[in-house]
Amino acid sequence: MQKIALVTGGSRGIGSEICRVLAREGWRVAVNYNHSESAARALAAEIGGIAVGGNVASPADTENIFATIRAELGEVSLLVNNAGIGEYGLFTDLSFDRWNELLGTNLTGAFNCCKAAIPAMVRAKSGCIVNIASMWGEVGASCEVAYSVTKAGLIGMTKALAKELGPSGIRVNAVSPGCIETDMMARFSPDERAALADETPLGFIGQTSDAAEAVAFLASEKARFITGQVLGVNGGFVI
Ligand code: NAP
Repeated sequence: MQKIALVTGGSRGIGSEICRVLAREGWRVAVNYNHSESAARALAAEIGGIAVGGNVASPADTENIFATIRAELGEVSLLVNNAGIGEYGLFTDLSFDRWNELLGTNLTGAFNCCKAAIPAMVRAKSGCIVNIASMWGEVGASCEVAYSVTKAGLIGMTKALAKELGPSGIRVNAVSPGCIETDMMARFSPDERAALADETPLGFIGQTSDAAEAVAFLASEKARFITGQVLGVNGGFVI
């Protein structure tokens, strides 16, 4: 099997580290970006991959992403659905449009990419999908209802697709991070970060590499008998 990976939202944060770790493990990596083009191009140059722009919430953009990868690298054999956005606030203040934006990026984005990736994987009778969920998808977060819904949806998609695609030799798993130091955590003050670290049994906030190494493991042959699982990378915050 050719090791060709697409990491959605690979331009920053957890996604960029997933790209680096996968490249280290011998994958040719397509670094998807939506807005951060220069960061994605610099990363692609650093790891010998390609940068591919497109909004995963758009079916047309997603088709273009896959067509570009097909032309430049070949068929995607590892899909990492990492692109995601968050929203913090009372449910009663959440607008219909913002609700749809979160669902569009976090959940429909994964749907669009799975639809585009799976036919070639089925033909090859092998492939791997790793969805980046969140501990809030497992237990729900106050003031992050839409976000929690999207991540719970991803976990459901992971388990259902694992059953449907197992007979085709395709494994589907999720990595479910806890608090990881990225731009997504930027809204927290130093005091709030310290409180989050305190609430974490291991006592610290994770780094992007913690999530990225879990993805690389699930994508590897070491995990060949693992499918439909949700691997928490959360320092014990949710057990
Ligand atoms: P981040 O630093 O804010 O990065 C988000 C990434 O997603 C960026 O590369 C961004 O690309 C991309 N993206 C957003 N919307 C997109 C779209 N419509 N199409 C394509 N790409 C899009 O966030 P992060 O913390 O690394 O989060 C990565 C994933 O981990 C998310 O799914 C998030 O929910 C999950 N997660 C994070 C944490 C945490 O504590 N950080 C915890 C649990 C789960 P551009 O900049 O190019 O637009």
